[in-house]
Amino acid sequence: MNRTIRSELEQINTQGLLRKTRLICGSQGARVSCDGRDMLLLCSNNYLGLADHPALAAASVAAIEKYGTSSGASRLVSGTMELHEQLERAVSSFKRSESALLFNSGHAANTGIIPALVGRGDVIFSDRLNHASIVDGILLSGARLVRYPHNDYRRLAVLMEKHAKGRSLIVSDGVFSMDGDLAPLAELVELKRVYNALLMIDDAHGSGVLGEQGRGSAEMCGVGHDVDIKMGTFGKALGSFGAYAAVSAEMRELLINRARSFIFSTSIPPAVLAASLAAVELVQTPAGDQLRKQLDHNSRYFRNGLKNAGFAIPNDSTPIVPIVVGAADTTMQFSEALMTEGIFAQGIRPPTVPAGTSRLRFTLMATHTQADLTEAVACIGRVGQRLGVV
Ligand SMILES: *Cc1c(COP(=O)(O)O)cnc(C)c1O
Repeated sequence: MNRTIRSELEQINTQGLLRKTRLICGSQGARVSCDGRDMLLLCSNNYLGLADHPALAAASVAAIEKYGTSSGASRLVSGTMELHEQLERAVSSFKRSESALLFNSGHAANTGIIPALVGRGDVIFSDRLNHASIVDGILLSGARLVRYPHNDYRRLAVLMEKHAKGRSLIVSDGVFSMDGDLAPLAELVELKRVYNALLMIDDAHGSGVLGEQGRGSAEMCGVGHDVDIKMGTFGKALGSFGAYAAVSAEMRELLINRARSFIFSTSIPPAVLAASLAAVELVQTPAGDQLRKQLDHNSRYFRNGLKNAGFAIPNDSTPIVPIVVGAADTTMQFSEALMTEGIFAQGIRPPTVPAGTSRLRFTLMATHTQADLTEAVACIGRVGQRLGVV
């Protein structure tokens, strides 16, 4: 058995795909300490800097003092705590949905929701670049999977005409996590109507960042009311942990009865619920607007800087900025070289992205300073030239 494990590891290593975690000291701020060295953090999804915001921390501490550290069991077993209910009310008001249901993480939401809604004999239409947790949910459901080329709604229409029988579900990231581009939401809504399908949007990277008051990508595109399942997470821009599905009251009831990741898992603890609640409130205030403005400014500044340095950077306006390198080994050399220069930007390899599209995925935060970013762009340009990436 040991030999099998070792040979599997060797195989992963030979392919240049061995992964390791890195030890970081301190919070997910703009600068972190890694092995005693100061680094600029350019790969955290803490977009608005809320992960170490005093308002969230204070809410968490107060919740621990009042409610303790654990929820004790699944909500169907030992009950819903007041904070679960308060957070669900806050989310449905934020997302302007009839109701909302919490999940323990984005991964748990996707693997719980999809099999609760469709199964054997049904069809799921899924963008080729959807997040792995969506793929896992699809596999668990047993429904037939029809993948469509990334954001190609014309091709999706052809595929739906051919395959949409029985119940069908269209599922897409709102903002694609490794590319930073947006789904064609208006077109997906149109297709869902024509073929009488359900539409689910995973807005892990849109919640708190996009649209008025950070309500999300569907709201930004004016189709907030046309998406049947608006899934989002608290672990990224919202600086906390966990996830939600903003849905109709009926859909919520079905999920409570069918979603196995909701039914068979201890619910989110008080400290986390309180931080999420504080974050949902904060992002809707003028302070939230200010953070989004700063984030947008930083994203544009960084994108333009890399473009001027000669990199092929997509024309999107999200805080996710990829440099697609291609080969996995060159990508990791790029990432390592940046590390030695004091920049922490993780290389992303298969199976997170398709083979041949390994990349550096930079993420901007509202808390980066212009000086940080100017220096980073110059450094990335130098290293990119040295490695022949630009
Ligand atoms: C991060 C992410 C998830 C998973 O959310 P977690 O709360 O981290 O489990 C799901 N979908 C997308 C698109 C993501 O980027």
